[in-house]
Amino acid sequence: MHYPLEPTPGQVGSMMAAAEEFVADFLAGEQAGGRAWMHAGMPRPTGLADPPAETPGELDHLLGVVRSAVARADDTTSPRCFAYFPGGGLVSAAVAELLARVTNRYTGSGAMAEDLVAMEHGVIRWLAAEFGLPTEATGLTTTGSSTGTLSAVVAARHRVLGGPGRLGTLYVTEHTHHSVAKAARLAGFPTELVRTVPVDRQLRMDARAVAELVAADHAAGRRPFLLVGTAGTTNTGTVDPLAELAATARRWGLWFHVDAAYGGGFQLTERGRRRLTGIEAADSIVLDLHKSLFLPYTTGVLLVRDPLALRDSHAADAEYLQDLELDESLPNYADLGVELSREYRGLRVWLPLHLHGVAAFRAALDEKLDLSEALHEGLSAIPGVETTRPDLTVHTFRVAGGEDANRRLLAAVNGSGRARITSTRIGGRTTLRMCVLNHRTREQHVAEAVAAVRDAVPDALRAATRAAA
Ligand SMILES: *Cc1c(COP(=O)(O)O)cnc(C)c1O
Repeated sequence: MHYPLEPTPGQVGSMMAAAEEFVADFLAGEQAGGRAWMHAGMPRPTGLADPPAETPGELDHLLGVVRSAVARADDTTSPRCFAYFPGGGLVSAAVAELLARVTNRYTGSGAMAEDLVAMEHGVIRWLAAEFGLPTEATGLTTTGSSTGTLSAVVAARHRVLGGPGRLGTLYVTEHTHHSVAKAARLAGFPTELVRTVPVDRQLRMDARAVAELVAADHAAGRRPFLLVGTAGTTNTGTVDPLAELAATARRWGLWFHVDAAYGGGFQLTERGRRRLTGIEAADSIVLDLHKSLFLPYTTGVLLVRDPLALRDSHAADAEYLQDLELDESLPNYADLGVELSREYRGLRVWLPLHLHGVAAFRAALDEKLDLSEALHEGLSAIPGVETTRPDLTVHTFRVAGGEDANRRLLAAVNGSGRARITSTRIGGRTTLRMCVLNHRTREQHVAEAVAAVRDAVPDALRAATRAAA
């Protein structure tokens, strides 16, 4: 009798054909502008959360359920999406993912999949070189910057403070991503050891203030151990003065960690590299390839200058792994990060880079910087709109007229279906936010987004004035 969990070649063929049709349809919709977020108002189909039946389902029916559920979800892959960090999700990465999942090799140990680990390692080494780190620098792909940052905090504690249980102070700003404070808490650092350094008028960490704070903590007998700079904050895309922070970290013997979750990819461009100057002095860097390298979600990278600091703070021995012959030239990823079981994320980085070539990525990122300039010019030219020049591709803007006017503007732009944007709070005030980061976003989408804002501003201001009267 045929064993149902192992499909026949014919069944594989029809599954692949159905999936291919799904993908082709989906891509055609997104390339045509994507409007899936407009379906968010449609009622949820019934039965979605029913328990699975004992009997087999119909693939076509099931894919139909997926199709509708995707259409009702926020359209993160649309070229009109400027919300949060838009994630394009390259198709070549998805193909790599299919292969990685079907073959399901274990890459936590260099000994169990030498070549696959060598391929991931090659990508990591290449990235480390792009960031100007020394050749012995190491790292691994992670689920994202949250887990990468946790490992960086632990490596920093190991190197500077001497290991678990030791306490010291670390330095962030109010615009540092909350994953840093979370990592510190998970690693056992009480909240009061996380020092919030003031920012300057451009919302960058104040380099003088951090130097003074570190000196004062030192003088008070505390143990400063970690300085965190951000290469592109989540809220405003601001780049901290990395070179100055690196110098302060070096002077006081602190570990210098750079959160390049969002901004890191721009290191592949001339302009980005200039803006991230100083990142080459980092002891550790996290970047999310699912942000500025267009890959699907949970493709993060942690890079560490000193491989021993990472390994010695993460390696664990297990008796049942004793048969593994360790090849010292290949990393054991299980010894460098949080995960023991791990997906082979390396392939969804390796295949797109080798298939498209690095120049394609540099050009796409350069294009995003150009589009970002165009968006800035467009927004600045709208009467009543206040905006600031972005460091990378995150834009914040507001209209005079208070909270109400800005909320109305947000709702009107999103209601137009021409662009999907979000808001944040800066200095306690609702501020609209747009980020150009989808590989599909082109000139016409930026132009239409600007037009959507321009068309919505007068009404938002009028309505807010009427409501206030
Ligand atoms: C997105 C982001 C993070 C968190 O990364 P995850 O991959 O979601 O864990 C950290 N820092 C910054 C600056 C980010 O933009």
